[in-house]
Amino acid sequence: MAIKAVRGVRDILPSETGKWQRVEAAARRTFEAYGYREIRLPLFERTELFARGIGDETDIVKKEMYTFEDRGGDSLTLRPEATAGLLRAYIEHGFQVEPKPVRLYTVGPMFRYERPQAGRYRQFHQANVEALGEPQPAVDAEVIAMLMDFFRELGLAERLALHVNSIGDTADRATYIVRLLEYLRPHAAALCGECQARLERNPLRVLDCKVPECQPVIEKAPSILDSLSPEATKHFERVREYLDALGQAYTVTPRLVRGLDYYVRTTFEVLTTELGAQNAVAGGGRYDGLIERLGGPADSGIGFAIGLERVVLLLGDDDAASRPFVLLIPLGEAALQRLLPVARAARQAGVAAELGYGGRKLPRELERANKLGVDYAVIAGDNEIASGEAVLRSMGSGEQRRVSFAALAGELVSLARKDGAP
Ligand code: AMP
Repeated sequence: MAIKAVRGVRDILPSETGKWQRVEAAARRTFEAYGYREIRLPLFERTELFARGIGDETDIVKKEMYTFEDRGGDSLTLRPEATAGLLRAYIEHGFQVEPKPVRLYTVGPMFRYERPQAGRYRQFHQANVEALGEPQPAVDAEVIAMLMDFFRELGLAERLALHVNSIGDTADRATYIVRLLEYLRPHAAALCGECQARLERNPLRVLDCKVPECQPVIEKAPSILDSLSPEATKHFERVREYLDALGQAYTVTPRLVRGLDYYVRTTFEVLTTELGAQNAVAGGGRYDGLIERLGGPADSGIGFAIGLERVVLLLGDDDAASRPFVLLIPLGEAALQRLLPVARAARQAGVAAELGYGGRKLPRELERANKLGVDYAVIAGDNEIASGEAVLRSMGSGEQRRVSFAALAGELVSLARKDGAP
């Protein structure tokens, strides 16, 4: 029996990679316009980095990590998110001496042992952005605006909703958790099993629960915004003022607490109604204190992660897959020898050219030209070699004309330029 891919792990097929390239290019263009530089990070790290960086009590660390012992006996983990590794690199390479904020982004696969479903995988991809060392609320607003500019660049902004919140500083959260528990405990029986367990372990996560039976309880929960210190309140007010100044629309959603322990103050999420249960396309927040917890300086930080699979799903199938511009059809060995250098010259000029190898009959090759969706076919057999001119056929109109072998590559290049084709 043939071996299949691991559950929850997908191949990204050639019919999809055009969209992936578009999404990645939009991410790079947007981030670089805001001054972010790319950093490429390892796919695995020491397990303790994630335990310390993400938090022992989070679902990710408790249940979802791919952890293994290597041959030297070290406990390693495939990265479930990028922030911890990026901060490890920030500290390790002394980025803190650079002008602040230090702006970095990275794109690549993440690994979480979650239950696979549409839009949720065990290997998935994120684009991650982090602005480090600058505590000012203007950074929060700019980071959020940049995230939305990425979606705008892809034409998706209108279909997405931006939610922002502040979860305050650690002390504010402690105060709030007491209030939240006072409210939740009497309602415990109305919550799902998972939330009943969360109640004692990580009660904030109850607010994140998507199970319908929990929603009435969650909706009436006290707002975390009422537990914020004056400083945290001020910070959040500023973030909102700057978003207003940027003309960026948003909804304040006090229930938005996010799943990771390290967030303080600003949190945000971009949601869609189009992907069923997996409605979060991107999320992020501020994490002042985390760099210090990982053994670095007391630098602040804010960042986000975009779920690229979900972005690609939203793009739908409207994108034309890349296809060659021309199929060169040699009929026989002598013609193959004439067309090989023509194909090469066209390709060197950036025209996507496909070449037959001389063994197939003309009707079969024309069928192939149709399947490939090329704009033109070039046909050359013994007669054409004798006359020094190949046949150039427009696949759309069926019109044919003769072009000398010497002029052929140049003619294909100028046709492709006219069409704006590759
Ligand atoms: P998080 O790192 O959990 O804040 O997730 C950030 C974004 O990554 C989410 O909004 C999703 O779009 C995406 N994401 C998280 N987990 C998965 C997964 N298992 N499969 C696909 N996308 C995911």
